[in-house]
Amino acid sequence: LPSKLPNVGTTIFTVMSKLAAEVGAINLSQGFPGFDCSPELVSLVEHYLRRGFNQYAPMTGVPTLREALAQKTSDLYNVAYHPDTEVTITSGATEAIFAAVTAVIRPGDEVLVFEPAYDSYVPAIELNGGIPVYVTLTPPDYSIDWKTVREKITDKTRLILINTPHNPTGRVWTVDDLVQLANIVRDRDIWIVSDEVYEHILFDNRTHHSLMTHPVLQERTFIVGSFGKTFHITGWKIGYCLAPAELTREFRKIHQYLTFSTVTPIQYALADYLAQPAHYQELPTFYQRKRNLFLDGLRNSRFEFKPAEGSFFQTVSYAAITDEPDYDLAIRLTKEINVASIPVSVFYNQKNDYKILRFCFAKDDATLQKAAERLSRL
Ligand code: PMP
Ligand code: GLN
Repeated sequence: LPSKLPNVGTTIFTVMSKLAAEVGAINLSQGFPGFDCSPELVSLVEHYLRRGFNQYAPMTGVPTLREALAQKTSDLYNVAYHPDTEVTITSGATEAIFAAVTAVIRPGDEVLVFEPAYDSYVPAIELNGGIPVYVTLTPPDYSIDWKTVREKITDKTRLILINTPHNPTGRVWTVDDLVQLANIVRDRDIWIVSDEVYEHILFDNRTHHSLMTHPVLQERTFIVGSFGKTFHITGWKIGYCLAPAELTREFRKIHQYLTFSTVTPIQYALADYLAQPAHYQELPTFYQRKRNLFLDGLRNSRFEFKPAEGSFFQTVSYAAITDEPDYDLAIRLTKEINVASIPVSVFYNQKNDYKILRFCFAKDDATLQKAAERLSRL
């Protein structure tokens, strides 16, 4: 069969998690919490399962969850999305990203992608006949050179993909980034997909500047979120898309034929759970402690790093230790010292190798300490 994605193999997350399991390594590669979600949330799901909420949910998502999301969004960012026409529940952020890209992109359209980029973006663009145009971000800052962005915009640019807080670098967008982007897209037929799945995981008193908070951006943006990151339930695969009614109308045309709807009892449970802000307000403190614990463990190592600004990933440079390719090193460390990571070159189109590994610190303290100890011996 001629491949529609000739440049794509099995995703790095599957490769590294499988290897980690085979050799019994500490798995800091694929991003998922190493601890369980709240028992209260499990009880809520059980409650709805037992009460017979087991048939198809409405295509757009259950009303209570759409309402709870609209309420949270208005409380946090002071932006109103109508739960009936502007909020859609999806099977994870992955589905929302795919549906939003599909809603916008026609063959030959150009899509601006900041790399390193989360690995589902480019396949979504290419399967729709779009052409990814890369803006390369480099360590240690991964900050955006807006002059380069302006130079890459053409008459064919239809979409820009944003991710803040950023996976894998942990970088967080500033207000200036929003203003710069708004000045570029104003008066152009350019839409935006903003992947904000780590919206509640920011450190050192940073604020999440959602793209919805800038009116010029809000009117053309599909905001994508995920409950997986926020409530430690990556295996439940529930996400959502917030977008103005006109965009949502097109988004839902795709969503209804991708998955139609999303698992019913969990949506009801999340609606109840989301109503209590404490359930997500605790995340910065919770994860900042873990980030610091991991980094304290690496202080006397030869790794170099800037503390992540957000997300639950920390990137480190190993340039002072070896000049091996990052992919080879990630495999070797998994086998030899039993600590699995992600080589950041996989997130670059040209596989640029800046000698950086990504570690997920959403793990219990003892695991983080043990991993840091092993890494410090290098
Ligand atoms: N976007 C980013 C930046 C992610 O890191 C992830 C997964 N960790 C996703 C999207 C996918 O989220 P979901 O599991 O809800 O599909
Ligand atoms: N988003 C997670 C990560 O970056 C992995 C998700 C997946 O395995 N597809 O590690």
